[in-house]
Amino acid sequence: MMNQETCIVVFSGGQDSTTCLFWAMKKFKEVIAVTFNYGQRHALEIECATAICKAHGIEHHILDMSLLSQLHPNALTHHALAVEAGGKGALPTTFVPARNLLFMSFAGAVAYNKGAKHLVTGVSEADFSGYPDCRDTFMKAMNVALNLSMDQAFVIHTPLMWKDKADVWALSDQLGKLDEIKEKTLTCYEGIIGDGCGTCLSCELRKKGYEAYMKSVNKS
Ligand code: ZN
Repeated sequence: MMNQETCIVVFSGGQDSTTCLFWAMKKFKEVIAVTFNYGQRHALEIECATAICKAHGIEHHILDMSLLSQLHPNALTHHALAVEAGGKGALPTTFVPARNLLFMSFAGAVAYNKGAKHLVTGVSEADFSGYPDCRDTFMKAMNVALNLSMDQAFVIHTPLMWKDKADVWALSDQLGKLDEIKEKTLTCYEGIIGDGCGTCLSCELRKKGYEAYMKSVNKS
């Protein structure tokens, strides 16, 4: 039987998925985090995820997905490749084909095993990247595919889908977790926890969002 109160969170230890983790903890009785190890630039990401789960007593599973980096060289798994933005229809060099397709499939398998009805992922269509597997239509299709493949009635939640980085900071503040997320998460492509290097694409986006949110708070 499916448990209405159990939720699987796809959890990387970054700002977005950590916000989702706290969001899920408010909404569901039992939260289980799943982290995928695919040889991302910094093993530190996984350490961050582990530390956050430990601090909050969350059951945490780390699944090996090293196959992903074998399939396609990309800037997240191949350290020699520079992180570059896309533009003019091109995807950024950080794009990993089929990443969320695979992640959601495996998260679905964990949900099946745990009897969990709910899944949460921190993907956002308002994000700068334009990754096709972060879009709302893809996640809706994924939800249907998961349900058909396992004959279940899973619900995929995407609380950040229409939020930009400033909105994500606003949500973490509403959840009372702004400082913890600012200090304990890793988003920086250079692997520096918290505020990061300050200059990589990811840091810039995170910092811009933070400043925009702080400005809006101080105005009101
Ligand atoms: Zn950085």
